[in-house]
Amino acid sequence: MEPFMSTYTVNGVTFALMQGDIVRVEVDAIVNAANAALAGGGGVDGAIHSAGGPTIMEECRKIGGCPTGSAVATHAGRLNAQYVFHAVGPIYQQHGDEEQLLASAYQSCLDLAERYQIKSIAFPSLSTGAYRYPVTLAAPIALRTIVRHLQQPTSLQQVLFVLFDARTLDTYKRAMQQIHDDF
Ligand code: ADP
Repeated sequence: MEPFMSTYTVNGVTFALMQGDIVRVEVDAIVNAANAALAGGGGVDGAIHSAGGPTIMEECRKIGGCPTGSAVATHAGRLNAQYVFHAVGPIYQQHGDEEQLLASAYQSCLDLAERYQIKSIAFPSLSTGAYRYPVTLAAPIALRTIVRHLQQPTSLQQVLFVLFDARTLDTYKRAMQQIHDDF
């Protein structure tokens, strides 16, 4: 077991919060924090395209774009995954309904997971880097959306949250403790 990993079981599904680099995990689908143009950028997006190789961007160009609060799937190139789900979270304080848009970006990935019948998925912390959504506000929205989804029948057996730094991991752990106590 990794030292900085907290594992929960939600309705029989393993749900883990860990510190790490999302391009290094081995899962069926890796979620990317993309932008609406699917144009590539820094942060998670830069890491995914550079580790996964150019075929991911070729597919993104063909798709053309993705509205905020939604997600689209491509193959995963050289990553240890079958798919990349490119999710577009809101830019903090640029949308009226950003809580709903953030939840819906996560939900769109969960919907893709069911459509492709995948067993494992890894999420980064959407919108909390370049898009400046405060982690303390984003973590409970992200976690509640996923936990609620896992309470229904699902193809998923494992959900990973891969947080880049210790502080973000700590904020997600605290939020998860609160949510876990609620159900
Ligand atoms: P957004 O534009 O949606 O805010 P970013 O990629 O800028 O997306 O940041 C989202 C979060 O992902 C931030 O907490 C950032 O520290 C983190 N992050 C950056 N690179 C990686 C990576 N390789 N693996 C996991 N998380 C990462």
